[in-house]
Amino acid sequence: MKKAKGNKSLLRLFFINYTFSLIIFIVAIGIFISISIVGLASNLSVTDREIRLMEENFLVEDFEKLDVEGILEVGGWIERLEDNRVVEIIGSKRDNIEEYTVLNVISEYENYDSFGKKYNSRAYLHDSFVYVVKVPNGEYLLNKRLDDKTLGESFRGTIKYSLTVSIGFMVITMCILFCKSIKKVEAPLKKIENGIQTMINGDYTIRLSFKTYKEIDKIRESFNYMVSKLEEAEASKKVAEESKKNMIRDITHDIKTPITSIMGYSRALYDGKVESHEEEKRYLQYIFNKTLRLNYLINELFVFTKLESSEYKVYPKIEEMGNFLREVVALYYGEIEEAEFEFELIIPENEIYCNIDFKELERAVINLMVNSLKYNDKGTTLIIELKEDVEKAVIIIRDDGIGINKELNESVFKEFVRGDSSRQTNGGSGLGLAITKRIVELHNGSISLRSEINKGSEFTIKLPKVK
Ligand code: ADP
Repeated sequence: MKKAKGNKSLLRLFFINYTFSLIIFIVAIGIFISISIVGLASNLSVTDREIRLMEENFLVEDFEKLDVEGILEVGGWIERLEDNRVVEIIGSKRDNIEEYTVLNVISEYENYDSFGKKYNSRAYLHDSFVYVVKVPNGEYLLNKRLDDKTLGESFRGTIKYSLTVSIGFMVITMCILFCKSIKKVEAPLKKIENGIQTMINGDYTIRLSFKTYKEIDKIRESFNYMVSKLEEAEASKKVAEESKKNMIRDITHDIKTPITSIMGYSRALYDGKVESHEEEKRYLQYIFNKTLRLNYLINELFVFTKLESSEYKVYPKIEEMGNFLREVVALYYGEIEEAEFEFELIIPENEIYCNIDFKELERAVINLMVNSLKYNDKGTTLIIELKEDVEKAVIIIRDDGIGINKELNESVFKEFVRGDSSRQTNGGSGLGLAITKRIVELHNGSISLRSEINKGSEFTIKLPKVK
């Protein structure tokens, strides 16, 4: 079965390149050897034309019909004799015979030049002169060629030529091979580069979907993962910016209301519009109440921003959670009684230890208790229970009061989220549960809510146990 393209490794590409390079190299050597052999052989061999010139000229009967040029071309020469002595030479004489005997002249026979190389000679009578024509035979020509000084140069020429052809072949084929391989790798890398550019320009929706070599696929997957994370971060940044804007709007609204009231009452007092002493006292009481409200809002805001700061740290110590809850409840027992609530604290017999910042966790639990007292009617039952599971200590704060409606269930832990009861009484800040959640998270814990209208609310805090 053909493997999917994406499963190929770059190693395979390198291996193919390596193999082809080797083959190209071997072929180039083959080309070099073949050209050299053919070149050298042709340098050393006697050509057909040369053989024809040698044989034809040697056999010619009539001096007139001799191919003088041909004789000279193959290294032969012609001598004219007078009284058997050489008086004229056409071409370059290669022996040192100056005088012939009659027998010498009339017989056709082999002879040797001054270097002992063979050539054939033949005599002609022409225009009352005797001409001796000397033509080298094949063996002569070959031997002469081997002695020839130009042979080395011609060898070098042949070697140079075959080297040029084989190196040229190698360079061109390797270039083609490597260009093809580079293109295979370059194309997906280019796509990644374009993707990065798009991402730099702020578009985090880009995803790369090509399939290529394993290693590049991994880079593509990492790119997609990174860009999706950036997209998420960008989205949550937008949400954070939006919630920051909402927060500022809500803070200003919440602070503005008591300030407007204070301004109104104090102006009335200042302008002397308040006639009776009783009314004046009432106005001052209003002003005082509004400053209390302002103070509460500013305190809550201060706590919230402090907890939200990344530098904020809790200082935990190991505490027994039953004791912790007993102490917290003791602080608010008066308020519970005043609110005419039924109250129950359920603590198991065994001790459960957690690493907590007492003061901060106390604030978290008190927020939940106070909410229960604040939003529910007399006669409501409030139960605070401590349990444990394998890993966690579990604190449950449960009431059977008015409950929280479904829409708020999800968002109630977000800052400035307030229920109708809070808005109507104008008593809350919408920060209490956000503060509680933040504190629990600073203890590596979690908080959840189960609530139903008119059935009550149950908040569950889970904290890691110390074993
Ligand atoms: P607030 O300052 O308004 O109390 P919180 O964040 O503490 O802000 O609470 C958010 C909202 O959740 C409240 O406005 C209230 O409507 C609702 N709530 C919280 N606890 C209870 C509870 N025990 N019973 C009923 N409603 C509750």
